[in-house]
Amino acid sequence: MVAGTGNPLATLPSVDRLLNDPAFAPVLKRYGRTQTTAQLRQTLAQIRDVVRANPISDGSAHIPAATEIADAVRTDLDRHNKRTLVPVYNLTGTVLHTNLGRALLPDSAAQAMLAIATQPSNLEYEVMSGNRGDRDSHIEDLLRELTGAEAATVVNNNAAAVLLTLNTMGLGKEVPVSRGELVEIGGSFRIPEVMSRSGCQLVEVGSTNRTHLKDYEEAITGNTALLMKVHTSNYEIQGFTHAASTADVATLAHAHDLPMVTDLGSGTLIDLAPYGLPDEPTVNQAIADGADVVTFSGDKLLGGPQAGLIVGRTDLIAAIKLNPLKRALRIDKVTMAALAEVLTLYRDPDSLGDTLPSLRLLSRTPTDIFKTAEAVLPGILNALELVIPGATAQIIDAASQIGSGSMPLDLLPSHAISISAPGGDEQLRRLATAFRALPRPVIGRMHDGCLLFDIRCLEHVDDFVDQLQQLTPPP
Ligand SMILES: *Cc1c(COP(=O)(O)O)cnc(C)c1O
Repeated sequence: MVAGTGNPLATLPSVDRLLNDPAFAPVLKRYGRTQTTAQLRQTLAQIRDVVRANPISDGSAHIPAATEIADAVRTDLDRHNKRTLVPVYNLTGTVLHTNLGRALLPDSAAQAMLAIATQPSNLEYEVMSGNRGDRDSHIEDLLRELTGAEAATVVNNNAAAVLLTLNTMGLGKEVPVSRGELVEIGGSFRIPEVMSRSGCQLVEVGSTNRTHLKDYEEAITGNTALLMKVHTSNYEIQGFTHAASTADVATLAHAHDLPMVTDLGSGTLIDLAPYGLPDEPTVNQAIADGADVVTFSGDKLLGGPQAGLIVGRTDLIAAIKLNPLKRALRIDKVTMAALAEVLTLYRDPDSLGDTLPSLRLLSRTPTDIFKTAEAVLPGILNALELVIPGATAQIIDAASQIGSGSMPLDLLPSHAISISAPGGDEQLRRLATAFRALPRPVIGRMHDGCLLFDIRCLEHVDDFVDQLQQLTPPP
């Protein structure tokens, strides 16, 4: 407090003097001169406004000390520099949650990314010959080996893979697809729209629930580019249904000298049955069934980074690589490093349950999940007692989902912490917001008047419980 006569603002130190004050040294060290100066100017302007708005008759006013000003500047800069993209706890029960980042990479892939991101690499360089190399060379042999396909390439995501494949093989021509397979994935990717953007003309065949081989056959004209099947990964048509098999459609295509393309979506490279997971068509099977090109995602069941993988016949993959759009859709070196690492892990399929985090979470046993739930329950009860007296939490049976549109009807037995509150739904919703406001947001789901935290994807109990002390009472 500085008392004075006349204009109290005259005693407010200048920007330069404050920046040289020892109180500002840590702020300058953390945020640098440019943004510290800009923020300080704003803070001083606010102080002046406050002082002018509160004229005190004897001319005295509260002029904050340098330390106080430094604290205010620091708080504003901390808030302004807070990262928006942060890790969260995915306790929704959906393992490959598209909005929460889908597959989790193994540490070895993260290390490979770091090495390639921070150092020069042979991304497109043949080290022994000194010649220009091919970006795809880092994954092509792996993909050939793992899928049985002749050739492979990779782009930014599977939507790009489908777009590029259709644009290369079907530009200006017709592509028959079953009406039962015109899928939409998350609103922005719809087969009919991708088809028209890729310059192909969709020819709908069959009906929503039944499409027969003869429907494809009747749709073939002199202007047909290829036959296509799309794996309906995010819905199932049940009841009176029929779909022509990949093998049959491929045989028909080949009889008419046409190639056959399959978009597998979540396409997995291995049989998931040993992991207690439901059947999902593998890429190998599609190739063995005669598909000439197969497209699939890198960050769904494969458990890798966001990528779109395209495998198939040598001549067709070569044409895809030559399409100018390939350059626009290619993946970056950091993603390539992660993808090559994850594919390498597939050479030891027996260890994938340990080495691939997504597969580890998907195949976690209910007993193991229950143990973790028991370990976190006391921490949750403690936190609840402080913020909502009268709230209760207990462990219940729950059903997790695979997510990412994979096997939508198949639920994995799991356990959840179920929280109920005396204030009902409204209070629970505010409690859910309080959990999401934690430094590492905790994301659950509302179900049957309870807030559920599915424990399947929670592996590190101590960190989780530690931050619960920071839970603030919902308003
Ligand atoms: C998920 C999916 C896509 C899109 O894959 P992204 O990797 O998300 O771009 C395309 N087709 C099918 C059948 C899918 O399931």
